[in-house]
Amino acid sequence: MNNLLQSEFGLTEIEVKRLNGYDNVNYLVYTTTDKYIFKTYIYTDEIYEMVKAENETLFFLQKSAQNKYPTPIQFSDGSFIKVLIIEGVKQVCRMLTFLEGEFLGDVKHTKKLMESFGNTLADIDLKLQDFKSYIIGAKQWEWDIQYLTLNEKYIDDIPNAKDRNLVHYFFQQFKENVLPVMPTLRKQIIHNDANDWNVLATNGEVSGIIDFGDLAHTFLINELAVAIPYVCFDKDNPLEWASIVLKSYHNKLPIQEREVNVLYYLIAARLLISVCNSAHSKIYNPENSYASISEKSAWKLLYRWLSINPLDAENSFRIAIDLPALKSQSPEKVLQRRYEHISPILSLSYDKPIHMVGSAFQYMYDADGNTFLDAYNNIPHVGHSHPKVVASGQRQMAKLNTNSRYLYDQLADYAEKVLAKFPDELNKIYFVNSGSAATDLAIRMAKNHTNHQGIMVMEHGYHGHTQTAIDISDYKFNNPKGQGQKDYILKTAIPDTYRGKYTLNDGSAGKMYANDVNNEINNFNMPIAAFIAEPIIGCGGQVPLAKGYLKEVYPVIRKQGGICISDEVQTGFGRLGDYFWGFEAQDVVPDIVIIGKPMANGHPMGAVICKNEIAESFSKGVEFFSSFGGNPVSCAIASSVLEVIEEEELQENAKTVGDYYKSLFMNLQEKYKCIGDVRGNGLFLGVEIIKENSIKPDTELAHLIKNQLRDRNILISTDGPFDSVLKTKPPLCFTKENALLVTTQIEKILEKTYYNRDSSAKIN
Ligand code: PMP
Repeated sequence: MNNLLQSEFGLTEIEVKRLNGYDNVNYLVYTTTDKYIFKTYIYTDEIYEMVKAENETLFFLQKSAQNKYPTPIQFSDGSFIKVLIIEGVKQVCRMLTFLEGEFLGDVKHTKKLMESFGNTLADIDLKLQDFKSYIIGAKQWEWDIQYLTLNEKYIDDIPNAKDRNLVHYFFQQFKENVLPVMPTLRKQIIHNDANDWNVLATNGEVSGIIDFGDLAHTFLINELAVAIPYVCFDKDNPLEWASIVLKSYHNKLPIQEREVNVLYYLIAARLLISVCNSAHSKIYNPENSYASISEKSAWKLLYRWLSINPLDAENSFRIAIDLPALKSQSPEKVLQRRYEHISPILSLSYDKPIHMVGSAFQYMYDADGNTFLDAYNNIPHVGHSHPKVVASGQRQMAKLNTNSRYLYDQLADYAEKVLAKFPDELNKIYFVNSGSAATDLAIRMAKNHTNHQGIMVMEHGYHGHTQTAIDISDYKFNNPKGQGQKDYILKTAIPDTYRGKYTLNDGSAGKMYANDVNNEINNFNMPIAAFIAEPIIGCGGQVPLAKGYLKEVYPVIRKQGGICISDEVQTGFGRLGDYFWGFEAQDVVPDIVIIGKPMANGHPMGAVICKNEIAESFSKGVEFFSSFGGNPVSCAIASSVLEVIEEEELQENAKTVGDYYKSLFMNLQEKYKCIGDVRGNGLFLGVEIIKENSIKPDTELAHLIKNQLRDRNILISTDGPFDSVLKTKPPLCFTKENALLVTTQIEKILEKTYYNRDSSAKIN
């Protein structure tokens, strides 16, 4: 190399050091007085033309600002680019001046530094407005955000399914939010790679920009979309840092409103490009460590980006460029509009209801730019707006949606998939559109199969809103405003080992409760068709059935000709961590199972699963048909839910995060006497709030915690007969950090309010 450089540039007394670039090799060349960068690229016609265009850009920039950008150096023959054979390989070669300075990635970020960064970028872009290059304009490649989708082919190189799905999510958001407005965004040639290692700082200000190898004719705003992630890495308040750069850029080169509208998604897009290419290069070019230099920080920021409401980002960016923040409608107006046509019998959560406009995985976004951590909603089981679920629905909706009177593969595909999760005896399935419809159908089938009319139900149980479902739901019929208990209903006590009659949860309480059931059945005035219960009574305040209870009760029901129904609408699909279905915890196999809520992640779908003999007797009656039940779109969506549970190992996550979450609540219980009981499994937990030194419910405190958590942007609910149990059942992608945040905030609320309440409220 020394000889080559001496002969090609007439340099003497040089020292050469090899440097790794992203996809080329550079050499740092020292003479006794100067430093240069000698750059080599494996020859292709395209690379030759691009390097030429890059040099032209540098010459153009040089006209107005020297020493801020590298200058091409002439070869001895007067050319600026030469094709040479180096180590037997044909290479495009050129030499550039070396710029002094420290990398932005190596210096402490200050406001002044970031201001000069924004300023420098605006400076380049202002100059480049007058620069044209058809070669640069014709280039389409992965590192230009306008061609983001070229990176989709790398997604499968990301080893972890959760990471992959996060990436899918932001791709989907890009397609929804950026693609439609792309034709309206200004385009010009930009540097397009102002990353930490291409920006130089001297004395606390940006002094130079190097590496013009990613020049692109693309959206002007991409200059910032590329630069901002590096400014945000490892910052507690990324939007503030981003806004500094944005503001100073805007002061020199004004940004348009439509550009800041999409900046949140463009920044995410740059992160996607980074993580996709890192993953790809780890497989195909593992020895190039430079290719994954930002990988860790990029992943961290991408996950952090999820917790930022896009509206919050947009408003921060708007303020930075002197536009007013977008204002949401006043809550009063939104409420008033709702009540215009919607009855108040549809209740709202919280003293201050929340106006939701978006969601992603375990987060929900409101109209004011707030992000809520969802520790409550169990329906978006695999995460809100999960990209696989969305894509499966979109794909199938665009192809075929019809009813079960035609043949289509999705019905049998899903039936096979979901039944594989059940014991072999449970081998027939009927599709409906809600848990209520499933309850209704299950009761109809039970009565039909047994020819009995009596239904045994659980105290505080809830199974839906149809007339039949209400009739069998103590939670509804026993409400002061309810319709009362029908004479065919036998209500049995909740086998609760905290508040109940028997409290020894070693199996003996379960036996004693079952014994009571036996007596109740014997004394009831009609034979029982079915006994329906949840494995953990959700509306009863997340009360798990006492150990061994169902094992004793099921034979009693069956002995007198009845059948046993497990309502898995809340507890199913791996939420309990140790079990895929709640009945497994009691070591029984029901005759009928009903499922709903999480089944299709929020798409309306429910089902009844039963044993063959029940299906056979049901088949002797009138046709069963549900217009929407089991349609191809629902089946495709439900299939994707099962796939995600598996690939993201969400049942295992429910177990590990759930155990941790429960232990955090138990730690709180030791410190605060207002926590009487912590119960449940996996990510289905209940925390009983009581008055100190008793087991009297403290409804007021439970409500206060719930509402104050809402004010701290955490969603949780209360339930149970006294509405005094904190109920948490988040999407299964919930993390340990999320769990810690919830319990830390509860502790802060208790510290502030519980000990400060007047003593009469504290003691009984
Ligand atoms: N069963 C249980 C245990 C439920 O929690 C619910 C709904 N909360 C239902 C049935 C009824 O389901 P849906 O609201 O889908 O009709």
